[in-house]
Amino acid sequence: MEPITKLQAVIHCKCPRCRQGDIFSGKMYALSLKGQITNEYCPHCNLRFEREPGFFYVSMFVSYAMNVAEMISASVAAYVLGLPLEYDSLWYYVGILLLTVFLCSPFNYRYSRVILLHWLTPGLGYIPGSGDEKVNKMKTA
Ligand SMILES: [Zn+2]
Repeated sequence: MEPITKLQAVIHCKCPRCRQGDIFSGKMYALSLKGQITNEYCPHCNLRFEREPGFFYVSMFVSYAMNVAEMISASVAAYVLGLPLEYDSLWYYVGILLLTVFLCSPFNYRYSRVILLHWLTPGLGYIPGSGDEKVNKMKTA
């Protein structure tokens, strides 16, 4: 199997060590109560995604930065598309920001964890072929 690049692994939410196992189960915008769930272990190489207790609390800071960038982008887009920057249109901006936060929250949940695992966790890098011996054992058994 051809190895995928780090950017492809981030976009497709793959494990940072083997770049083959999925970090999440479930779809990003699924309309179910279960929603998207972070797998505890990589299904391919058995890497534990939550590196230590409370590891994913750090992803809230990443999510916060993503939220700020999205809200600024939405506000600038609303202004460029013709919404006047006046006191009377203040509530339109508030509504646009709340809608942006609501619609982007599943995306932020998922990609804040992926960014944390791929770029902000020291000592966690790509090891080509990791987890393959487990798959080979399963094939021969
Ligand atoms: Zn893996």
